[in-house]
Amino acid sequence: MVCCHSQSGNCKTQAVVATVIGIAAVGAAVYYYKYWSKSRGIRSKNGLLKSKEDESRKVKLIKKEKLTHDVRLFRWKLDEDQTLGLLPGEHVKLSSQINSKSVSRFYSPVSHPHQQGYFETITKIYGPTEDNPNAGLFSSFLDSLEIGSEISISGPFGQLGYLTRGNFLIKQKIKHFKTLAMIAGGSGLTPMLQLIRHILNEEEYPSKVYLIYTNKTSDDIIVDEELKLYAAKFPSRFYLTLVFTRQTENPQNIQQGLWNESYGRIDEGLLARVFPYPSDDVLTLICGPKSMNSAAKAICTSLGYSNINVF
Ligand SMILES: Cc1cc2nc3c(=O)[nH]c(=O)nc-3n(C[C@H](O)[C@H](O)[C@H](O)COP(=O)(O)OP(=O)(O)OC[C@H]3O[C@@H](n4cnc5c(N)ncnc54)[C@H](O)[C@@H]3O)c2cc1C
Repeated sequence: MVCCHSQSGNCKTQAVVATVIGIAAVGAAVYYYKYWSKSRGIRSKNGLLKSKEDESRKVKLIKKEKLTHDVRLFRWKLDEDQTLGLLPGEHVKLSSQINSKSVSRFYSPVSHPHQQGYFETITKIYGPTEDNPNAGLFSSFLDSLEIGSEISISGPFGQLGYLTRGNFLIKQKIKHFKTLAMIAGGSGLTPMLQLIRHILNEEEYPSKVYLIYTNKTSDDIIVDEELKLYAAKFPSRFYLTLVFTRQTENPQNIQQGLWNESYGRIDEGLLARVFPYPSDDVLTLICGPKSMNSAAKAICTSLGYSNINVF
């Protein structure tokens, strides 16, 4: 406690210090209430995953669905009132013994973070190639799992998680963005999909989402119908551009201008046409094969986007 009976210089200094400490304490309390309490609220108490070091958790496969010729959806069981415990944008590590060796890979869940009783992942299945007979080790193992099989899981992992109302937790700091500019390639859609599903649901806080989604052909698009439905349902919040690297142009595909289509690799011209103007309010997210990630990051940087996150 600071107590001054006279107006000496020393006491004035003490009073100023006390006031500054008071303001800082109130500021910290408001910050805690506004952000951290919300973060805790979203990362619900009954979440399965509490620490990435804890590798003792197991989940059971309860559903497997073919989404495209080489992409599968997996549904994993949680307790009835349990959530997974991740923020949208974070990922898990799945591990198993394969050929007597412990093998792990990261996956970005796509189900809503508040979903109780189960969570879902989407995986592109690779297979052996001439050069590498072990290619696709974990994804083909997942594909071979029978319903009822168990797998080890740990998490949450990741440098970026969405809190609420445009607030993100990025490298332990809260940052606010009104607009998301996403570039996804193939199964790199998964972290974007969870964010898109969550953010478009937040009707009281209408952030805008721009998605450039690149695939070899239209047969490779994951959740094609869902993305086009969002483009139709949220015409002033969700802007979809489908890019095909190995397909010739087919303007018939573009219904009523609800989404854009582009052919070939992404370049500066495409981003300048379909992305929001670069500003501090825009968070750019990139997820795909390594070569696409580095090309996309270079293009975004040269166009002046400053907040770029590569998953
Ligand atoms: C943060 C993070 C999140 C991820 N989330 C997801 C997700 O949600 N869904 C998902 O499907 N993947 C995701 N991945 C990738 C995943 O972790 C695995 O790398 C992927 O499933 C491949 O593992 P694998 O053992 O089957 O193949 P590996 O043999 O380990 O393959 C490694 C890479 O080599 C390439 N490759 C392998 N086989 C072939 C082939 N036959 N033809 C062409 N290229 C090939 C692919 O680029 C592949 O990713 C994520 C990765 C990270 C780092």
